Amino acid sequence: MRYDYIIAGSGIAGLYAALLAREHGSVLVLTKGSIDECNTRYAQGGIAAAVGPDDSTELHLRDTLEAGAGLVDEEAARILVSEAAERIRDLVRFGVPFDSDGGEVALGREGAHSRPRILHAGGDATGAHIELSLSSLARMSRVVIKEYCLVEEVLTDDGRAVGVATLDTRTNSRESFEGRSIILATGGCGQLYRVSTNSDVATGDGIAVAYRAGAEIMDMEFFQFHPTALRLPGVPVFLISEAVRGEGALLIDGDGRRFLPEYDERAELAPRDIVARAIHTELAQSGANTVFLDVTHLPPERVSARFPQIYRHCLEHGLDITQEPIPVSPAAHYLMGGVRTNVWGETTVTSLYACGECACISVHGANRLASNSLLETVVFAKRVVDRTLAVGDQPTATPPTLDALALPGLRPAEGPSLDRPALQAMMWDDVGIVRDGEPLERARARLAAGQALLPEAGDRPSHELVNLVLCGRLAVEAALQREESRGAHYRHDFPEPREEWRRHLVFRSDA
Ligand SMILES: Cc1cc2nc3c(=O)[nH]c(=O)nc-3n(C[C@H](O)[C@H](O)[C@H](O)COP(=O)(O)OP(=O)(O)OC[C@H]3O[C@@H](n4cnc5c(N)ncnc54)[C@H](O)[C@@H]3O)c2cc1C
Repeated sequence: MRYDYIIAGSGIAGLYAALLAREHGSVLVLTKGSIDECNTRYAQGGIAAAVGPDDSTELHLRDTLEAGAGLVDEEAARILVSEAAERIRDLVRFGVPFDSDGGEVALGREGAHSRPRILHAGGDATGAHIELSLSSLARMSRVVIKEYCLVEEVLTDDGRAVGVATLDTRTNSRESFEGRSIILATGGCGQLYRVSTNSDVATGDGIAVAYRAGAEIMDMEFFQFHPTALRLPGVPVFLISEAVRGEGALLIDGDGRRFLPEYDERAELAPRDIVARAIHTELAQSGANTVFLDVTHLPPERVSARFPQIYRHCLEHGLDITQEPIPVSPAAHYLMGGVRTNVWGETTVTSLYACGECACISVHGANRLASNSLLETVVFAKRVVDRTLAVGDQPTATPPTLDALALPGLRPAEGPSLDRPALQAMMWDDVGIVRDGEPLERARARLAAGQALLPEAGDRPSHELVNLVLCGRLAVEAALQREESRGAHYRHDFPEPREEWRRHLVFRSDA
């Protein structure tokens, strides 16, 4: 069967692209789980847009550039901030019920934003509202949606993407689809890490299939760790949004000491990497498992009204956050890198596009500004669809390739095999918040040997493991090469940024 658009992924990027593309041709959305299982539905804080009375796109741009630590592409970031308001209007048109306050849109504040500019829905249930609104609309429209259908590979012909090979994850049967424009919207790879806020589906599949199809992969060493994930014994990791600190929450240790002012004058509102590393240091020094996020000094009704999801979730697990501080520690959260694209979402493979968290357009650089990621998904998904219209039936002109590296060869298959928990533990310990040459070398060797031992993938778990290991290798290789600290990438043995490293690291399978 041939479609005008084949879209892999049903998070905000995939569904929003599908809702736009349906106006211009036949659309097939493939998603490896149920339609609503994705990182999008867990987003709490909201979506950034400079729409407040004292705000401007220039201020939003400045904050984005600053957070990205010298690696943000200014043209892409300018597009991001200037097209924000229009894309928010689209989301409203598609039914997303953003919160208002006295007739005006309600705007929250998050770390490293110089103005309140975070639109939210249902308080801290923004992602759930977005996902539900878009998926309900997509289900009612002409879009063909195939759930439990995993994209295994992008099919190419003479260097051009022409379709996808898929696996039914319930029967393990295979099928292929042809398409004019192939759009990857498969999300990030937070499942690389033992402690992660990400959905189970975040296994880097789109990055791996794009790499195998010959596309360039960029910035894989930049992984953002969120400082505050709820850590209660026996309870899955659950994000406590940065917006909670924006409302005045304080971070304290087990003795009630507020420690962040010792690390950065912005204290609780410092960028995520600084807060995450400060907590990492405090935990290493004290030997404790958690620090605490304290909102007990805020009016209880304000806490429960502004953060109903967090409040309810904690209460269900026996913690009344208006009365007791919340035990938290950092967790893997967001991949800044991914499939390299230009500002039209074009990858370096003709007719293959990428948008959302699996793409790297360089709007986040070395560190993402909070709530710019949902914004990125819609701004660049729209541009992908616009681009497909501009090129019509012609193959896309791909962006120029960059000097790229190839992964070193595999090690002989030796040592214990690598399963998902072992991979996640190794990535957390050796390629985590604070990195060092020796553990990185160790991880590189273990991954290369582990990859050689992997059996051929035949079901969803084995495909995900193959893809995670490939993403892990790309991340480790880049982290080893980058002998400096910048944004979310911190090397204990190279603690400062270095001017010669104000550049991107790109990988290509045939480099
Ligand atoms: C807990 C949490 C809170 C967050 N809060 C915020 C926030 O407040 N503001 C903000 O801006 N960002 C936030 N983020 C980040 C943001 O939610 C994500 O970056 C964004 O939702 C990614 O959207 P996406 O469509 O690219 O990917 P996702 O929403 O993850 O969707 C990926 C889709 O691809 C599918 N898929 C994956 N592999 C395959 C395959 N091989 N074949 C077929 N389908 C596949 C998945 O099943 C899924 O449907 C948060 C993230 C998390 C985890």
